Amino acid sequence: MEKKIIIDAHHHYQNVPDYPDLLAEEYASLGISKVCLISPKGEDGIKKLKKAMDKYPKFILGLAQWDWENHKPDDVVRFKDMGFAGVKFIRPTLPYNHKDFWSIYEKCQELKMPGLFHLGIVGRSKGKDFMKATTPEDAKEAYFVDSNYMRPIYLDTIARLFPEWQIHGAHLGNPWYEEASMSCRWNPNLYFDLTGSTLKKKKPEYLAELLWWNRFTRYRDPDGRDAWEKIVFGSDVAYYETHDVLNDYNNLFQKLNLSEEIKWKILGGTVAKMYGVE
Ligand SMILES: [Zn+2]
Repeated sequence: MEKKIIIDAHHHYQNVPDYPDLLAEEYASLGISKVCLISPKGEDGIKKLKKAMDKYPKFILGLAQWDWENHKPDDVVRFKDMGFAGVKFIRPTLPYNHKDFWSIYEKCQELKMPGLFHLGIVGRSKGKDFMKATTPEDAKEAYFVDSNYMRPIYLDTIARLFPEWQIHGAHLGNPWYEEASMSCRWNPNLYFDLTGSTLKKKKPEYLAELLWWNRFTRYRDPDGRDAWEKIVFGSDVAYYETHDVLNDYNNLFQKLNLSEEIKWKILGGTVAKMYGVE
């Protein structure tokens, strides 16, 4: 039987005073024992999260936010040495599966640092307008975003190239749900969360149709796991909204009549294995 622990696999450190304390207090009341917490942007963000990790070593699994312009594969080593548990990727400068990035992923695999990838459409940032940037400083501050670079099918390439690397794709690839689901079936090292608007907008039956295979179906995953064993709980909202997302997940379990075993795997068991924190 799966251990009954809840782990939030996808949460952002917010620039609010005492955020780690607020988070720890709220999650204790929700029965969430661990959180994969993503650093705010830049080196300051890394430092901030490191401080929080030192204060709450059992509670926080720190994910260092990757800086495509400034970080090199050696930074993965640095993050590991600092005690970070994984790396978070978003807004790549090329498609996620581009050869230029393979050395980063290889380092993560070698050091057993799972990768969390933002997938699909991304929110508009408040950065400066890229097209109007006239100085290199402005251009640096502005974002050129191609959401197509973050398609879930790129994780299929990466998962095959780095079969020992534990990979977590966010938002079930919204809006490329089918790509995400089939990539998930074929790659034992690839997992997805249902954060974002999906649980609010899509019916449980729709998700059941996407995640249709199980250990008994003629077409299934290579390890004979149920589709739902590849889905993890994540919040991706402010700490005071997590209870609502947890509620949406529980509602989904009920509507689809998922077993107790599968439910606890989604809530925490699977992520515990990915990060080796059982
Ligand atoms: Zn996120």
